[in-house]
Amino acid sequence: MKITKVTPMTMGTEWRNITFVKVETDEGLVGVADVRALNRTETVVGYLSESAPRYVLGADPFEIERLVHRMSLQDFGRAGEVVMTGIALIEIACWDIVGQALGQPVYRLLGGAVRDRIRAYANGWYTVERTPEEFHAAATRVVERGYTALKFDPFGAGFYEIDRKEKRRVISLVEAVRDAVGPDTDILIEMHGRFNPATAIEMANELAPFKPSWYEEPTPPENLAALKKVADAIAPLGIPIATGERLHTPFEYRELFELQAADIIQTDITHFGGILNTKKLAAWANAYYMLIAPHNVGGPVSTAAALHLAASTPNFKIQEYFNDFAESYVQEAATGLPKVVDGYFALPEGPGLGLKLNEDVIEAHPQRDVHFNLFAEDWHKRSM
Ligand SMILES: [Mg+2]
Repeated sequence: MKITKVTPMTMGTEWRNITFVKVETDEGLVGVADVRALNRTETVVGYLSESAPRYVLGADPFEIERLVHRMSLQDFGRAGEVVMTGIALIEIACWDIVGQALGQPVYRLLGGAVRDRIRAYANGWYTVERTPEEFHAAATRVVERGYTALKFDPFGAGFYEIDRKEKRRVISLVEAVRDAVGPDTDILIEMHGRFNPATAIEMANELAPFKPSWYEEPTPPENLAALKKVADAIAPLGIPIATGERLHTPFEYRELFELQAADIIQTDITHFGGILNTKKLAAWANAYYMLIAPHNVGGPVSTAAALHLAASTPNFKIQEYFNDFAESYVQEAATGLPKVVDGYFALPEGPGLGLKLNEDVIEAHPQRDVHFNLFAEDWHKRSM
């Protein structure tokens, strides 16, 4: 079997463009993938237009390792966010094709199921004013939908530091959310790499009384020794550190593992060269007793890819999911993805990833000129 055509299609939404890729073969099988390439939609599509004729067209979709190896190595320049995103789109679509060719769901080609359902946490639910009342009401709506875990970034546009008044506001928001969701719901605190170590440590201590279940990206992603400093300082709190959505190759994870600077890795399959790279990374993390909770802010296909990985990975923790709090057409862009019920996805059904694109829906919502800036005031409202 040979790949004959690669077609990107971008769908616009209020705060993100989701790029779908369709990979066609000479045997009529078609694989799909999608990604939210944050503020770099055209860049990723441009990478694919240059690399697909060079590496992808004519390749055997079963030879996933060979394809990823060639795309990672043979351009010589180091592969980062953009390249590992483009590779992932092709790689995920290849798994879809392989699964269809064999009549099996992808997770059964990755070792088979190790669990019967996949726990999810909600994100993107707090597009409201930054007041305790509005956060309380929004968090209540999340648990009413059955979620048992939710994530949010209460820190506004903070960068390195926030002032004393803002710190009190942050504390009031987290207090309101804990009050809304009760003692048994997991609250995950997102810091988006905002802080210098001193502020990260201070805020971790201030928020500890509300029993968060992790602190995410307390410091920016480039300096893992700084993260280790935070990890050591807050270890007595017993609250784990999660990070990794902005690490794009196994080589970038080496130092994180050696330092043991985190407890949970948040690899984004769509920014990490795809399913197999992430599967191998999860095994490496397991040797450090680290869990994996893949970052996922894409459409239905990237969510499906994450579910197939989760189904087959022993040290999987929980799956991020935005689309219950997004425009309804995001879910309608493909059929076949399980819904979150009582806080869990069912195992995805194949063959392949198990989804079918609705190209009419995608075409009806053209790409938008959105700049999602996490360091702007009111970014969390996600209305550009
Ligand atoms: Mg994050």
